[in-house]
Amino acid sequence: MPFEVEAVFPELAGTAREVTLLYPRAGQPGPGDSSIGGPLLWPADEPWPMCTEPDHYKPLGAPVWPKPVAMVPVVQLYARDVPGLVFPAGTDLLQILWCPLVHEDDQYAANPRLRWRSAALTAAGATAVEAPLPHTVEEDYLPRPCTLSPTQAVEYPNWDLPEGLGELLDERFEVLREERGYDYFEVATTQQSKVGGYPGWTQQPDWPECEGCGTRMEHLLSVTATEPGMGRWLPLDDRDPRQDGAATPSWKAEANPATFDAFGHDMCLGDLGGMYFFVCRTCPDTPYTHRYDC
Ligand SMILES: [Zn+2]
Ligand SMILES: [Zn+2]
Repeated sequence: MPFEVEAVFPELAGTAREVTLLYPRAGQPGPGDSSIGGPLLWPADEPWPMCTEPDHYKPLGAPVWPKPVAMVPVVQLYARDVPGLVFPAGTDLLQILWCPLVHEDDQYAANPRLRWRSAALTAAGATAVEAPLPHTVEEDYLPRPCTLSPTQAVEYPNWDLPEGLGELLDERFEVLREERGYDYFEVATTQQSKVGGYPGWTQQPDWPECEGCGTRMEHLLSVTATEPGMGRWLPLDDRDPRQDGAATPSWKAEANPATFDAFGHDMCLGDLGGMYFFVCRTCPDTPYTHRYDC
Protein backbone atom coordinates (compact mmCIF):
# COMPACT_ATOMS: atom_id res chain seq x y z
CA MET A 1 0.00 0.00 0.00
CA PRO A 2 1.24 3.52 -0.64
CA PHE A 3 -0.14 4.36 2.80
CA GLU A 4 -0.97 2.47 5.98
CA VAL A 5 -4.69 2.08 5.51
CA GLU A 6 -5.41 1.17 9.11
CA ALA A 7 -3.26 3.99 10.47
CA VAL A 8 -5.28 6.53 8.49
CA PHE A 9 -8.60 4.76 8.93
CA PRO A 10 -8.43 2.84 12.23
CA GLU A 11 -12.10 1.94 11.68
CA LEU A 12 -10.90 -0.50 9.00
CA ALA A 13 -8.74 -2.52 11.41
CA GLY A 14 -9.23 -6.22 10.85
CA THR A 15 -10.86 -5.86 7.42
CA ALA A 16 -7.72 -6.52 5.31
CA ARG A 17 -7.97 -9.69 3.22
CA GLU A 18 -5.50 -11.58 1.11
CA VAL A 19 -6.51 -11.88 -2.52
CA THR A 20 -5.04 -13.39 -5.67
CA LEU A 21 -5.78 -11.25 -8.73
CA LEU A 22 -6.01 -13.38 -11.87
CA TYR A 23 -5.46 -10.98 -14.81
CA PRO A 24 -6.89 -13.17 -17.61
CA ARG A 25 -5.31 -12.49 -21.03
CA ALA A 26 -6.34 -14.06 -24.33
CA GLY A 27 -3.97 -16.91 -25.12
CA GLN A 28 -3.61 -20.61 -25.67
CA PRO A 29 -3.63 -22.35 -22.30
CA GLY A 30 -3.41 -26.16 -22.25
CA PRO A 31 -5.10 -28.66 -19.90
CA GLY A 32 -2.01 -28.52 -17.69
CA ASP A 33 -2.35 -24.75 -17.18
CA SER A 34 -4.46 -22.60 -14.93
CA SER A 35 -6.86 -20.70 -17.17
CA ILE A 36 -10.15 -18.98 -17.74
CA GLY A 37 -12.01 -20.49 -20.69
CA GLY A 38 -9.19 -22.93 -21.36
CA PRO A 39 -9.26 -26.73 -21.83
CA LEU A 40 -9.79 -28.72 -18.62
CA LEU A 41 -7.80 -31.72 -17.45
CA TRP A 42 -10.69 -34.23 -17.56
CA PRO A 43 -10.97 -37.86 -16.42
CA ALA A 44 -11.81 -40.26 -19.27
CA ASP A 45 -14.31 -42.15 -17.09
CA GLU A 46 -16.32 -39.08 -16.12
CA PRO A 47 -19.11 -37.89 -18.41
CA TRP A 48 -18.89 -34.25 -19.47
CA PRO A 49 -21.48 -32.15 -17.59
CA MET A 50 -24.56 -31.25 -19.64
CA CYS A 51 -27.23 -28.74 -18.65
CA THR A 52 -30.46 -30.51 -17.78
CA GLU A 53 -32.60 -27.37 -17.97
CA PRO A 54 -35.57 -28.54 -20.10
CA ASP A 55 -35.53 -25.40 -22.26
CA HIS A 56 -31.88 -25.88 -23.10
CA TYR A 57 -32.28 -28.95 -25.26
CA LYS A 58 -31.90 -28.66 -28.99
CA PRO A 59 -33.85 -27.40 -30.78
CA LEU A 60 -34.34 -24.74 -28.13
CA GLY A 61 -37.79 -24.87 -26.58
CA ALA A 62 -38.87 -27.93 -28.59
CA PRO A 63 -37.12 -31.03 -27.30
CA VAL A 64 -38.22 -33.39 -30.05
CA TRP A 65 -34.80 -34.97 -30.41
CA PRO A 66 -33.48 -34.06 -27.00
CA LYS A 67 -29.90 -32.97 -27.11
CA PRO A 68 -28.73 -31.25 -23.93
CA VAL A 69 -26.34 -28.32 -24.10
CA ALA A 70 -22.76 -29.10 -23.10
CA MET A 71 -21.35 -26.98 -20.30
CA VAL A 72 -18.27 -24.88 -21.06
CA PRO A 73 -15.01 -24.57 -19.11
CA VAL A 74 -14.83 -21.30 -17.22
CA VAL A 75 -12.08 -21.60 -14.60
CA GLN A 76 -9.26 -24.04 -13.99
CA LEU A 77 -6.85 -23.41 -11.12
CA TYR A 78 -3.87 -25.50 -10.07
CA ALA A 79 -2.88 -25.11 -6.42
CA ARG A 80 0.73 -24.25 -7.43
CA ASP A 81 -0.54 -21.07 -9.14
CA VAL A 82 -2.74 -19.81 -6.30
CA PRO A 83 -0.96 -20.50 -3.00
CA GLY A 84 -3.59 -18.40 -1.21
CA LEU A 85 -6.41 -20.76 -2.17
CA VAL A 86 -7.24 -23.47 0.38
CA PHE A 87 -8.05 -26.77 -1.35
CA PRO A 88 -10.10 -29.50 0.37
CA ALA A 89 -7.91 -32.40 1.61
CA GLY A 90 -6.49 -34.53 -1.20
CA THR A 91 -7.20 -32.02 -3.97
CA ASP A 92 -5.05 -29.47 -5.78
CA LEU A 93 -7.08 -28.69 -8.89
CA LEU A 94 -10.28 -26.62 -9.05
CA GLN A 95 -12.52 -26.50 -12.12
CA ILE A 96 -15.67 -24.50 -12.78
CA LEU A 97 -17.99 -25.09 -15.73
CA TRP A 98 -21.31 -23.51 -16.55
CA CYS A 99 -24.11 -23.63 -19.06
CA PRO A 100 -23.55 -21.08 -21.83
CA LEU A 101 -27.25 -20.16 -21.90
CA VAL A 102 -29.33 -17.87 -19.70
CA HIS A 103 -31.00 -19.28 -16.60
CA GLU A 104 -33.55 -16.66 -15.68
CA ASP A 105 -34.72 -18.40 -12.54
CA ASP A 106 -31.21 -19.11 -11.27
CA GLN A 107 -29.58 -15.73 -10.68
CA TYR A 108 -29.47 -15.34 -14.50
CA ALA A 109 -26.31 -17.26 -14.22
CA ALA A 110 -25.53 -20.40 -15.80
CA ASN A 111 -26.09 -23.35 -13.47
CA PRO A 112 -22.40 -23.65 -12.55
CA ARG A 113 -20.61 -26.83 -11.45
CA LEU A 114 -17.48 -26.92 -9.29
CA ARG A 115 -15.05 -29.83 -9.28
CA TRP A 116 -12.21 -30.25 -6.79
CA ARG A 117 -9.72 -32.86 -7.99
CA SER A 118 -6.27 -34.33 -7.46
CA ALA A 119 -4.23 -33.21 -10.46
CA ALA A 120 -2.02 -36.33 -10.36
CA LEU A 121 -4.94 -38.77 -10.19
CA THR A 122 -6.81 -36.90 -12.91
CA ALA A 123 -3.75 -36.72 -15.18
CA ALA A 124 -3.24 -40.49 -14.83
CA GLY A 125 -6.68 -41.20 -16.29
CA ALA A 126 -7.15 -38.07 -18.37
CA THR A 127 -8.97 -38.18 -21.67
CA ALA A 128 -7.25 -37.03 -24.83
CA VAL A 129 -10.65 -36.44 -26.42
CA GLU A 130 -11.74 -32.84 -26.75
CA ALA A 131 -14.67 -31.61 -24.70
CA PRO A 132 -18.03 -31.61 -26.51
CA LEU A 133 -19.04 -28.25 -27.98
CA PRO A 134 -22.38 -26.78 -26.89
CA HIS A 135 -25.03 -26.77 -29.65
CA THR A 136 -25.92 -23.14 -28.87
CA VAL A 137 -24.19 -20.43 -26.85
CA GLU A 138 -24.94 -17.01 -25.49
CA GLU A 139 -21.77 -15.00 -26.18
CA ASP A 140 -22.21 -13.25 -22.85
CA TYR A 141 -21.41 -16.49 -21.04
CA LEU A 142 -18.77 -18.05 -23.28
CA PRO A 143 -15.24 -17.08 -22.21
CA ARG A 144 -12.44 -16.95 -24.76
CA PRO A 145 -9.36 -18.97 -23.72
CA CYS A 146 -7.16 -16.95 -21.39
CA THR A 147 -3.92 -17.55 -19.57
CA LEU A 148 -3.61 -16.12 -16.06
CA SER A 149 -1.03 -14.03 -14.21
CA PRO A 150 -1.97 -14.73 -10.58
CA THR A 151 -0.80 -11.83 -8.44
CA GLN A 152 -1.04 -11.80 -4.65
CA ALA A 153 -2.21 -8.65 -2.91
CA VAL A 154 -3.98 -7.39 0.18
CA GLU A 155 -7.24 -5.55 -0.17
CA TYR A 156 -9.81 -3.70 1.90
CA PRO A 157 -13.61 -3.65 1.51
CA ASN A 158 -15.37 -1.67 -1.19
CA TRP A 159 -19.09 -2.55 -1.38
CA ASP A 160 -18.50 -4.60 1.75
CA LEU A 161 -17.55 -1.64 3.95
CA PRO A 162 -19.31 -2.28 7.27
CA GLU A 163 -22.76 -0.73 7.59
CA GLY A 164 -22.63 3.05 7.82
CA LEU A 165 -18.84 3.21 7.65
CA GLY A 166 -18.73 4.25 3.99
CA GLU A 167 -20.75 7.37 4.72
CA LEU A 168 -18.73 8.08 7.82
CA LEU A 169 -15.42 7.84 5.94
CA ASP A 170 -16.53 9.51 2.72
CA GLU A 171 -15.31 12.93 3.76
CA ARG A 172 -11.97 11.55 4.93
CA PHE A 173 -11.57 9.59 1.68
CA GLU A 174 -12.00 12.96 -0.03
CA VAL A 175 -9.37 14.59 2.20
CA LEU A 176 -6.94 11.75 1.47
CA ARG A 177 -7.46 12.27 -2.25
CA GLU A 178 -6.84 16.00 -2.00
CA GLU A 179 -3.90 15.91 0.38
CA ARG A 180 -2.00 12.87 -0.84
CA GLY A 181 -3.44 12.08 -4.26
CA TYR A 182 -4.57 8.56 -3.32
CA ASP A 183 -8.05 7.33 -3.94
CA TYR A 184 -8.95 4.74 -1.30
CA PHE A 185 -10.96 2.67 -3.77
CA GLU A 186 -8.16 2.76 -6.35
CA VAL A 187 -5.31 1.82 -4.08
CA ALA A 188 -6.93 -0.38 -1.43
CA THR A 189 -9.76 -2.25 -3.19
CA THR A 190 -10.08 -4.31 -6.37
CA GLN A 191 -12.91 -5.11 -8.79
CA GLN A 192 -11.69 -7.77 -11.20
CA SER A 193 -11.46 -11.56 -11.57
CA LYS A 194 -9.85 -12.86 -8.39
CA VAL A 195 -9.56 -15.62 -5.82
CA GLY A 196 -10.30 -14.81 -2.18
CA GLY A 197 -10.50 -11.28 -0.86
CA TYR A 198 -13.84 -9.51 -1.24
CA PRO A 199 -16.30 -10.42 -4.03
CA GLY A 200 -15.92 -8.12 -7.05
CA TRP A 201 -19.53 -6.94 -6.68
CA THR A 202 -20.73 -4.22 -9.04
CA GLN A 203 -23.86 -3.76 -6.91
CA GLN A 204 -24.95 -4.17 -3.29
CA PRO A 205 -23.48 -7.29 -1.67
CA ASP A 206 -25.69 -10.36 -1.54
CA TRP A 207 -23.81 -12.85 0.64
CA PRO A 208 -25.32 -16.35 0.61
CA GLU A 209 -25.85 -18.48 3.69
CA CYS A 210 -24.99 -22.17 3.69
CA GLU A 211 -28.10 -24.33 3.39
CA GLY A 212 -26.45 -26.93 5.61
CA CYS A 213 -25.32 -24.89 8.62
CA GLY A 214 -26.87 -21.45 8.12
CA THR A 215 -23.61 -19.52 8.38
CA ARG A 216 -22.43 -16.94 5.86
CA MET A 217 -20.46 -18.66 3.12
CA GLU A 218 -16.87 -17.82 2.23
CA HIS A 219 -16.04 -15.97 -1.00
CA LEU A 220 -14.13 -18.43 -3.17
CA LEU A 221 -13.59 -16.48 -6.38
CA SER A 222 -15.07 -13.86 -8.68
CA VAL A 223 -15.25 -13.80 -12.47
CA THR A 224 -15.97 -10.22 -13.51
CA ALA A 225 -16.80 -8.76 -16.91
CA THR A 226 -14.19 -6.04 -16.72
CA GLU A 227 -10.48 -6.06 -15.96
CA PRO A 228 -8.53 -2.95 -14.93
CA GLY A 229 -6.23 -1.22 -17.41
CA MET A 230 -4.24 0.39 -14.63
CA GLY A 231 -3.31 -0.03 -11.01
CA ARG A 232 -0.42 -0.90 -8.81
CA TRP A 233 -0.90 -4.67 -9.04
CA LEU A 234 -0.83 -4.73 -12.85
CA PRO A 235 1.51 -7.54 -14.03
CA LEU A 236 4.87 -6.15 -15.15
CA ASP A 237 4.46 -7.57 -18.68
CA ASP A 238 1.36 -5.44 -19.19
CA ARG A 239 2.85 -2.13 -18.12
CA ASP A 240 3.30 0.74 -20.51
CA PRO A 241 7.04 0.91 -21.31
CA ARG A 242 6.68 4.64 -21.98
CA GLN A 243 5.92 5.24 -18.31
CA ASP A 244 8.99 6.05 -16.29
CA GLY A 245 9.04 3.36 -13.63
CA ALA A 246 10.92 5.45 -11.09
CA ALA A 247 8.88 8.63 -11.57
CA THR A 248 5.46 7.01 -11.76
CA PRO A 249 3.94 5.95 -8.47
CA SER A 250 2.96 2.29 -8.55
CA TRP A 251 -0.77 2.96 -8.11
CA LYS A 252 -0.69 5.06 -11.27
CA ALA A 253 0.80 2.28 -13.40
CA GLU A 254 -0.96 2.10 -16.75
CA ALA A 255 -1.18 -0.79 -19.16
CA ASN A 256 0.54 -0.75 -22.53
CA PRO A 257 -2.27 0.16 -24.99
CA ALA A 258 -0.86 -2.48 -27.36
CA THR A 259 -1.88 -5.16 -24.85
CA PHE A 260 -5.51 -4.03 -24.35
CA ASP A 261 -7.00 -6.35 -26.97
CA ALA A 262 -5.85 -9.36 -24.97
CA PHE A 263 -7.41 -8.15 -21.70
CA GLY A 264 -10.14 -10.31 -20.23
CA HIS A 265 -12.27 -13.25 -21.22
CA ASP A 266 -14.66 -11.16 -23.35
CA MET A 267 -17.86 -12.06 -21.50
CA CYS A 268 -20.28 -9.22 -20.74
CA LEU A 269 -22.06 -11.26 -18.06
CA GLY A 270 -25.28 -9.39 -18.70
CA ASP A 271 -24.18 -5.79 -18.51
CA LEU A 272 -20.66 -5.62 -17.10
CA GLY A 273 -21.40 -7.54 -13.95
CA GLY A 274 -19.84 -10.60 -12.43
CA MET A 275 -20.31 -14.13 -11.18
CA TYR A 276 -19.28 -14.79 -7.59
CA PHE A 277 -18.65 -18.20 -6.09
CA PHE A 278 -18.97 -19.14 -2.44
CA VAL A 279 -18.22 -22.25 -0.40
CA CYS A 280 -18.85 -23.58 3.10
CA ARG A 281 -15.71 -25.17 4.48
CA THR A 282 -17.29 -26.74 7.55
CA CYS A 283 -20.10 -28.77 5.96
CA PRO A 284 -19.20 -32.12 4.31
CA ASP A 285 -18.20 -32.06 0.60
CA THR A 286 -17.59 -28.29 0.57
CA PRO A 287 -21.03 -27.11 -0.60
CA TYR A 288 -20.98 -24.19 -3.05
CA THR A 289 -23.29 -21.64 -4.51
CA HIS A 290 -23.05 -18.52 -6.65
CA ARG A 291 -24.35 -14.99 -6.97
CA TYR A 292 -24.63 -12.86 -10.06
CA ASP A 293 -24.98 -9.16 -10.68
CA CYS A 294 -24.95 -7.03 -13.79
ZN1 LIG B 1 -28.67 -24.37 -19.16
ZN1 LIG C 1 -22.27 -25.14 5.95
